[in-house]
Order: sequence, then structure tokens, then C-alpha cells
Amino acid sequence: MRILISNDDGYLAPGIIALAEALAPIAEIVVVAPDSNRSGASNSLTLDRPLSVQRAGNGFYFVNGTPTDCVHIALTAMLDAPPDLVVSGINNGQNMGDDTLYSGTVAAATEAFLFGIPAIAFSQVNHGWAHVESAARVARDIVERRFEMLTSPFLLNVNIPNLPYEELGPLTPTRLGRRHQAEPVIRAQDPRGRDIYWIGAPGACRDAGEGTDFHATQQGRVSITPLQIDLTHQSQLELLAQGIA
Ligand code: MN
Repeated sequence: MRILISNDDGYLAPGIIALAEALAPIAEIVVVAPDSNRSGASNSLTLDRPLSVQRAGNGFYFVNGTPTDCVHIALTAMLDAPPDLVVSGINNGQNMGDDTLYSGTVAAATEAFLFGIPAIAFSQVNHGWAHVESAARVARDIVERRFEMLTSPFLLNVNIPNLPYEELGPLTPTRLGRRHQAEPVIRAQDPRGRDIYWIGAPGACRDAGEGTDFHATQQGRVSITPLQIDLTHQSQLELLAQGIA
């Protein structure tokens, strides 16, 4: 099996190092990741400047671009043949509910999915890398499942509680929950008296009911959500079509 690995926390992040170490024994791996932390980059492509790829001492490739840039360049310019799977992460913090729209971790996987390659995004629920080795072991377990019951390509979003491997609950299929709107921006002044703004924290859970990613991880389970890209609101499409006719 050939696996391309990326992330949004940058090629030096403990999560991508742990993921690469966990997958190297079972696959031929190539790591292509941003040169710095690009969390929150979503599906952005860099179109206003050229990009460069460099190789680190450990063999990881790093790019002065976004997670999506990394996967795009790897698939179109670096790899001789498409990989069997693209994995992203392990992210420093959860990507559940509405987070998935902003996440660079999910975006890296999505880019592969758009190229017709199965992809899995991995995130740890809490920041700080506690039990990242446990999360990497879970990631390897999940990769080894292969998901032949799914149509290919698939796009899976996995969130792993920060627990020792033995204390984790089972892999649980979930839907995305929902959050309340984000916390307010934090307004301050720079040293020259200009207003500056820090984007606030994500909103609290609004729908964390049974069956959601939030609910499963709160129970100590590993959440796995199949994602799709089509944002069409089907019932409103029908109303619109009727209303316009
Ligand atoms: Mn991140």
C-alpha cells in the first residue's frame, strides 16, 4: 500500500511525525506538509505566488503553502502514480461539526478525495498532544480496515479522544454535530494605535446529541464520519424550482 500523508499543523508537528511512524511499517509512505502551521486554511489554494518543495532531514517534504497546495502538488507533480490512500493529521485538536468547513486537516483529505483517491482525516479531540502515540495506533488500525464496504473514493473524518489506547471506546460511525456561532472576535490595539482583531474561539456545541461526533467522543469513543462535498440543499432546490416555475 502507498500512502501520502499531509496535515495542517506543519511538517514538524508531533501529530504528523507520530502518524508517519505508525504507518511506515505497513505502507510505503510519502509526507508532504506545510512548512508552518496552516490550521484553519480550509480548502484554500495559493494562486498569487509560486510554491516550492523542500526535503527535510527525516525525508519529509515541506511546502510554503496550504494543506490543499501540498496534496495538490504531491498528486500532480511529485508522485509517479496516485497513492492508494491519503491521510491527514493527526491534528492538534478536534475537527467536529462545523469545524470541518474551516479545517485544513480535513481539506488535505478532501483534495485527495476530489482527485478520486480515498482519504482519511485524523484529529485528536484536545489540543496539546496528550496520548498522541495512542491516536497514531488508532490511525493505523483504521487504515488497516481498508473500508471495502464503502464506495471508493471515500472521505472519512476521524476524531480520537486523548486517552491511553486501552481506555479508548470502540470505533463509532457518526454524523457531524453542529456548533453555536463562534465566540466574538477579540479586539485590541497594536503598538501604533491601530485596531487589531483576533478571531475568537469556535462556538459551543449546539447539536451534540446521540449519533453525533461530539457525543461519541464525549463517551471516550473514536468517532468516524463519512463526508461528502455536495453542498446542495436538496429540499430548498425543490422549493426554488417550484417557486420560480
Ligand atoms: Mn491544525
